[in-house]
Amino acid sequence: MLEEIEPHPKFKHAMLFIVCLITFLPASAAANGGYNVHVTDNYVKATAKCSCGQSGYYYHTASFENYCPQCHSHGSLKFNPKGTAEGEWTCTHCDADYCAAEGKEKISGSNYYLKHYTAPKIVHAKTVETKVQTPEPEDPKVKIIQTLSLYKDRSFLG
Ligand SMILES: [Zn+2]
Ligand SMILES: [Zn+2]
Repeated sequence: MLEEIEPHPKFKHAMLFIVCLITFLPASAAANGGYNVHVTDNYVKATAKCSCGQSGYYYHTASFENYCPQCHSHGSLKFNPKGTAEGEWTCTHCDADYCAAEGKEKISGSNYYLKHYTAPKIVHAKTVETKVQTPEPEDPKVKIIQTLSLYKDRSFLG
C-alpha cells in the first residue's frame, strides 16, 4: 500500500487559512481598541467592545449624541484618547469615560449614559395641493350691463 506523502489539498487550505488568521488578526484588532470611528459635532459613532460589563465582550456598533451628560458640554467626546483595549468615549472637558457600546459612564456608581443617537429621518416635504379656484365663467350679459352702468356713471358725472 502506498502512503500519501502529499498533504491532503483540504488540509493545505486549512493551513493557509490559519496562517492568514494569525497574520491578519492582530492588524485588524487595532491598538486604538475600535474601528469605524466617526465623529461629528452632532454625534459620535464607533465599533468597539463593551467595557462597562453590561454587554458581551465583543464588538458593538453604536452612535451617541456628541454630548457629555456629566458636564453638559457639546462636541467634547473623543474616541479612546487613553488607548484602552476595548475603546471608549472620553469627554475632553471633564475626563469622563463612557462605554462605546452602551454609552454608560464607566466609573462605578455613575448612572450617566450618553444619549443614543438616531439619524434624523429625511422628511419629504408634503406636496401641498392648492386648488386654484377657477373663476366662474362670466355671463356676457352681466358684463355688458356692468360696463354700461360704468359708462353711464361716468357720463353722468362727466
Ligand atoms: Zn458596555
Ligand atoms: Zn464631560
